[in-house]
Amino acid sequence: TKFNIAIDGPAGAGKSTVARMVAGELGFIYVDTGAMYRAVTWKALQDGIDPGDAPGVTRTASAMQISLVPGKDGQQVFVNGQDVSVPIRSKTVTDHVSQIAAIPEVRELLVNLQKQMAASKGVVMDGRDIGTHVLPDAEVKVYLTASVRKRAERRFEEVRGAGAVTTLDDMERDIARRDRLDEGREASPLVQAKDAILLDSTNMTVPEVVEYILELGRS
Ligand code: C5P
Repeated sequence: TKFNIAIDGPAGAGKSTVARMVAGELGFIYVDTGAMYRAVTWKALQDGIDPGDAPGVTRTASAMQISLVPGKDGQQVFVNGQDVSVPIRSKTVTDHVSQIAAIPEVRELLVNLQKQMAASKGVVMDGRDIGTHVLPDAEVKVYLTASVRKRAERRFEEVRGAGAVTTLDDMERDIARRDRLDEGREASPLVQAKDAILLDSTNMTVPEVVEYILELGRS
């Protein structure tokens, strides 16, 4: 039987890796909502819209078409038919995404899309407000976190593999800044849902976290 799983938590907690694997095990669809906020950010920057121009960004968001396509190396993201999976992970997009995700009208547009995607159940969705706002009735809710140092280390390993130039301290500062913006914003701030299970992955491996969530789905 199909049900929905909501996985929320701060940047670098391993949500997307874990959510993708859980979805794979269950034959469910994985939806990376962060990628949708990144896609809007990429498009706004591409069109020369100032990220602080809320009406301008909202116009961009409502005029663009975002599609998420499950692929072999994770999920591919398309904007108006163009594959933007790589550029939405750039430092420029990462630096501006939390500002754009704080615009209530942008959130409303994307949340509506996300609700539609999960309407027929069998979805594992990760983000910041899934258990609190997008899928308040999700059968399984997890709040996945880890120490900021550990999260910085994991992200550092990822981007270093991709050839990016940064230091671990810079990475930790960037992640802490994004946490502050996501937790401090007015619209749907990052917070653990009352009925979400708190999972601190600081000293857990990826397979352990995946197994824990699958077990929640069995009970
Ligand atoms: O998950 P990821 O790090 O790719 O998300 C990028 C940014 O998108 C987050 O830092 C947050 O500002 C925003 N976001 C959000 N709500 C979601 C998912 C992501 O505000 N459901």
